[in-house]
Amino acid sequence: MSKNPLKLFNSLNRQLEEFVPIHPGEARVYTCGPTVYNYQHIGNMRAYIFADTLGRTLSQRGLDLTHVINITDVGHLTSDADAGDDKMEKAAAAQGKSAWDIARYYQEVFETDLDRLNVRKPAHPRATDYVESMIEWGKQMQEKHCYELESGLYFDVSTVPEYGRLARAVTEEGEGRIASVDGKRNAQDFAIWRKTPPGETRQMEWDSPWGKGAPGWHLECSVMSAELLGHPFDIHTGGIDHREIHHPNEIAQNQAHNCSSDSAARIWMHNNFLIDRSKGELGKMSKSSGEFLVLQTLVDRGYHPLAYRMMCLQAHYRSELEFSWEGLDAALTRLKRMVMVAERLADAPSMPVAEHPKFAAPLAKFEEAVADDLNTPLGLTALEDALGVKKVDAGIKRAVVEHMDAVFGLGLFDLTREDLRIRPKTAEITEVEIETALTRRKAARGEKDFATSDTIRDDLSAKGVEVMDGDPLGWEWKLA
Ligand code: AMP
Ligand code: ZN
Repeated sequence: MSKNPLKLFNSLNRQLEEFVPIHPGEARVYTCGPTVYNYQHIGNMRAYIFADTLGRTLSQRGLDLTHVINITDVGHLTSDADAGDDKMEKAAAAQGKSAWDIARYYQEVFETDLDRLNVRKPAHPRATDYVESMIEWGKQMQEKHCYELESGLYFDVSTVPEYGRLARAVTEEGEGRIASVDGKRNAQDFAIWRKTPPGETRQMEWDSPWGKGAPGWHLECSVMSAELLGHPFDIHTGGIDHREIHHPNEIAQNQAHNCSSDSAARIWMHNNFLIDRSKGELGKMSKSSGEFLVLQTLVDRGYHPLAYRMMCLQAHYRSELEFSWEGLDAALTRLKRMVMVAERLADAPSMPVAEHPKFAAPLAKFEEAVADDLNTPLGLTALEDALGVKKVDAGIKRAVVEHMDAVFGLGLFDLTREDLRIRPKTAEITEVEIETALTRRKAARGEKDFATSDTIRDDLSAKGVEVMDGDPLGWEWKLA
């Protein structure tokens, strides 16, 4: 479809590379999924919105996409250093539930949130369904690459070529960050299998050649990507934190198991973080710090989930994105404006994108932007250019907008203005604020600026105020 070759930034080489599928006509993508011991915060959801935008781009290019987002329901410790508790078991103890119930519950919430963000449904395999294969990998790697300690089976990172090439900074910084388990040969060695300590029973444990226990966290992604996508596969994605430890460890396992120096994924892509400066020094959203925003918090405050998707698309995935309520407000307004135009095209017949001189420039800008390492901020302006084209057949316009939105995933033709008018749980506004807003609205209407006038009405509505135009009694508004 697109004439522009797709260029993607490969973290492995730190450069843009043209995407060429390994299997012609297909694209196979693996995305590290959530550890389901808690809700996913909106920073986590940025990682999946990015992966979905990538998947949509590949599909639009006519490739048959297989996309896997795994569910980590075992093995992720509270520290990256193979120390601390298992996050699942800890959450289970705190909530008085079984680890299995905790996992199922948070997986369901996660999947609901993906739906609300228009993330197309990828496969969601669970780590606990692959433990047998993980044990097989351990057995196969053991002789040449692993050693046993009292606490488990460990991977010796000095046995594979160029360990940590992906991270680049492992030696200095990494060593400081990874506190060692006693007896580790190298600071970065990591657990393949964690034995249940003598006298203890874990809720999630399996028999293995190294005793009862549970797999190390990194193993599942190597095993599941091999089984579900085959090695090598096209693209591996995750948040930028995974570039430092989790993905180098996955690569080491892949090299060891496959007896190859190849990393097993051709392109490694990493989204940057959503940060929240109101939450302390680095402002990085993290679940373990206990305080974080989830999608439902945004909805409770009157924001449609797709306003958050818009907010993410407005930044390049490799840039940090700073969360603010003002920023989310602006994203919602932008979405509202797009939906208002789309509503006028709703009855036009859907047709394939046709060549039309008035859309040549917006379409070219869109294709170039997306092909340039998914430049969605620029792509969105092409969508606005297309929405703004005047005196043109509505069917053609609808086709162009649908074509672009197939990548952005905003669902412009499924949304109504009503959908975007969510009443916050705790609507609060003073009379003076209402009157001031209505005065501004009257002025906007006087100037025939109906977009602004609608936005003001929607904002009031979101605050629980119903504006009553033409009310015979002259009541201009009431609290809904
Ligand atoms: P976790 O459940 O902690 O394994 O994280 C799930 C995904 O979210 C991983 O790909 C992380 O790299 C990513 N992630 C974690 N925090 C953030 C953040 N603040 N912004 C963007 N992505 C994040
Ligand atoms: Zn992973």
